[in-house]
Amino acid sequence: MHKSEIDREKPLEILKEYDRDNITIATLGSHSALNILRGARDEGFRAVCICRRRERIIYESFEIADELIEIKDYSDLLKKSLQDELVEVNTILIPHGTFNAYIGNLNDLYVPVFGNRELMLWETVREKQMRWLLEAGLNLPKAYSSPEEIDRLVIVKYPGARGGAGYFLATSPEDFYEKSEKMIEKGIIDRDDLKKVYIQEYITGANVYFTFFYSPVFERVELIAADRRYESSIDGMGRIPADIQLKSGISPTYTVVGNFPVVLRESLLSKVLRAAKGVVEVSKKIAYPGMVGPFCLETVFDENAEMYVFEISARIVAGSNVGIPYSPYSYILFGEPMYAGRRIAREVKLAAKRDMLEELVY
Ligand code: AMP
Repeated sequence: MHKSEIDREKPLEILKEYDRDNITIATLGSHSALNILRGARDEGFRAVCICRRRERIIYESFEIADELIEIKDYSDLLKKSLQDELVEVNTILIPHGTFNAYIGNLNDLYVPVFGNRELMLWETVREKQMRWLLEAGLNLPKAYSSPEEIDRLVIVKYPGARGGAGYFLATSPEDFYEKSEKMIEKGIIDRDDLKKVYIQEYITGANVYFTFFYSPVFERVELIAADRRYESSIDGMGRIPADIQLKSGISPTYTVVGNFPVVLRESLLSKVLRAAKGVVEVSKKIAYPGMVGPFCLETVFDENAEMYVFEISARIVAGSNVGIPYSPYSYILFGEPMYAGRRIAREVKLAAKRDMLEELVY
């Protein structure tokens, strides 16, 4: 029997005491907070944004929060005084990428958190992610256990890299070592990182990132939005002629600066929807009760429109921001404006009415 690393008891006890007609939805001010807070408002909830001083201007400018709580660091969210304040107003916290990247132990949160925190932990360990995707029967780019094995174009990923910064491409072991040295010299990575690299076959093709939602209320997987990323400097390189690229010796990086909406060729949707269902099925085995709420599959379609999945996120992703107020897919399904943040709030509302809020908090 798989042992959960997450303590559910305290948040569930707290949730039991909540006034279900007066739920507050709160999140950290970054990543997809505008999406989440707008969604909370659209579904009639009180929306609270917990943000650092430097990002305050964003949430003030959009007048999107009923209350702004200022903190010094994201990890201040774990402080007892703040958690107690949130519990006092019946808060459900909506996690996003910043929770994974900056907070540390999600287990230290006793404010009820929407979704499955254990799957969010799975997401932070690449080997676990890959196991999950493989078990779901998906097509993954080949992974290399050592730089010596590099036999084709690969992408090299470092554990510390945030939003793709610090990734590079290599074609051979020599190329790998040469480029790693350059990255160390530039201070982008340190020597210790070399031991923790993740080397993956580079799939040339069209990238598409899909946001899905697993609804415990409706017991179904929904496709909410699709996007592609705008990455620096890789997306700027096509603007420079090849001979100049060669002369200047620039290496591409994958720092995400934004996203574009995507609509997929319709016949390809069958692969995408099957993949999402497979991932949800496996999630039930690896982390009971499995996926709850939004998740994302990062894919590349190669020249034969073969789909490769290279990453999974077990929570809302920032790319879903392109789907406000709706994407073609969410509109087709709901016939009304629907986007990831609103979908989360809608699920909370429906679950509160049906007395099944407990099923959203793991
Ligand atoms: P990740 O941190 O895994 O989301 O990757 C960041 C970016 O690197 C992606 O948005 C892609 O542009 C690119 N990328 C990552 N893995 C691959 C791959 N196996 N093949 C092609 N591009 C990739």
